[in-house]
Amino acid sequence: MKCPRCGSENVNVQMVAETRVKKKSGLVYWLVFGWWLEPILWIFFTIPRLIFALFRPRRYKTKTVRSSMCICQNCGNRWKVK
Ligand SMILES: [Zn+2]
Repeated sequence: MKCPRCGSENVNVQMVAETRVKKKSGLVYWLVFGWWLEPILWIFFTIPRLIFALFRPRRYKTKTVRSSMCICQNCGNRWKVK
């Protein structure tokens, strides 16, 4: 395992378990558009959205993701390994 930033092989690998909300849009999107766009869409597209939600049932469910986090001991760089 090599650090992509400095090329050092002095890298720690840790297993990280995190709970995240599976949602397509991020926090910034929500702050800029979501708070007003979502209600408008909900009002005008309630039925299509309900149908859409039926086909995408897992969109808003939380999911525990296990991933490997690498931490470079040389430069402190952190990155995820899929
Ligand atoms: Zn490094």
